[in-house]
Amino acid sequence: MESCDALIVGGGPAGSSCAWQLRRNGLDVIVMDKANFPRDKVCAGWVTPSVIEALQIDTDDYARRNVLQPITAFRTGLIDGEEVITRYPAPVSYGIRRCELDNYLLQRTGVHLRLGEPLESLQREGSQWIVNDNISTPLVVGAGGHFCPVARFMGAKLGATEPAIAAKEIEFEMSPAQLDDCKVRGDTPELYFCPDLKGYGWCFRKGDYLNIGLGHEDNRQLSKLLKDFCSFLKQRGRIPQDIPDAFHGHAYLLYGHTVRKQLDDGMLLIGDAAGLAYPQSGEGIRPAVESGLMAAATIIEADGDYRLQKLQPYAGRLAARFGTTVPAENTEPSSLRKFLAGILLGNRWFTRHVVLDRWFLHTHQPSLHTAGG
Ligand SMILES: Cc1cc2nc3c(=O)[nH]c(=O)nc-3n(C[C@H](O)[C@H](O)[C@H](O)COP(=O)(O)OP(=O)(O)OC[C@H]3O[C@@H](n4cnc5c(N)ncnc54)[C@H](O)[C@@H]3O)c2cc1C
Repeated sequence: MESCDALIVGGGPAGSSCAWQLRRNGLDVIVMDKANFPRDKVCAGWVTPSVIEALQIDTDDYARRNVLQPITAFRTGLIDGEEVITRYPAPVSYGIRRCELDNYLLQRTGVHLRLGEPLESLQREGSQWIVNDNISTPLVVGAGGHFCPVARFMGAKLGATEPAIAAKEIEFEMSPAQLDDCKVRGDTPELYFCPDLKGYGWCFRKGDYLNIGLGHEDNRQLSKLLKDFCSFLKQRGRIPQDIPDAFHGHAYLLYGHTVRKQLDDGMLLIGDAAGLAYPQSGEGIRPAVESGLMAAATIIEADGDYRLQKLQPYAGRLAARFGTTVPAENTEPSSLRKFLAGILLGNRWFTRHVVLDRWFLHTHQPSLHTAGG
């Protein structure tokens, strides 16, 4: 039987951020992931600078072996509508490849990795958890993403009654002919909103890689919306005509739309497992990283006593950071919504200050600094 101070289930950005911080504070940590790394994750691959800052990533070191595309502008609009280009004097975000970023973050944690190993069993014995019959630990951190088995253990009805965002994307390396045909610029990702404002499509270029996808609140409409979106991009001449069609799908929860239990005795959830993605943009890497760091700060303060009341400050930290309110249900008739969307998304001031700065870049929220950092 192997033992550790904390077992983290899931080696994505949430799990690796938590492991990194715990290890730096002297805890003996294991990260278990069912995948072998590097592994792919369905994602557009856009990170805001606060992630780089909170994790103290040396961008020069990172970019030596990995794609790091600085973003200094956005092309936005409604699908089939007018477009607006918004430029910034310095990088406001970065394009990354998840297979690279996640592997980089996980390897630098320096903790014991048990990769290619799914969580199969979880039993309570006194104040310890026995995991897969061969690990004993007082603390299990659920960082297994939307379908996290620890969240399921804590009672989440995965995929059943939860109102998740459904999304599909494809990322591929363009051929020389496709590179010639592609009008999307690396420093200017393109975002196009669905007329009902319940989702949006994107087109991101990172070096020679192109990432195209769409997310929407209604899973039943996703395939049709995606097909129409790709036709729209081709018709506008933005992307090559011969893109592959092997799109991959995934789901995730938006913060405030669903509340999963986040804490229990000797157990807590971080990242997508806790349902933390920003509601307006669907950005989930930053909340995953920040929740991992806030969980680590709480664990360090708990100093080996992981009873529920000692972990409770984590819930307070989440609420202080991401808010406690549930966004109001939109009850406007769809024709009015469509009309308003058309006007607002064609407006340069609204696009820059509300859509981009507030909803997508969160410029009003400074980077996270936690105890133990
Ligand atoms: C199409 C799409 C596009 C997106 N684009 C963006 C974007 O551009 N920017 C952004 O910020 N966010 C984006 N997101 C959201 C973002 O991908 C997630 O919020 C983020 O990956 C959450 O990180 P995480 O560490 O919580 O979970 P994950 O990254 O999902 O990692 C979970 C890990 O747990 C492991 N795991 C799962 N089950 C088990 C098990 N049973 N046993 C052991 N290990 C297990 C998995 O293998 C995985 O490695 C996008 C999401 C989708 C679906």
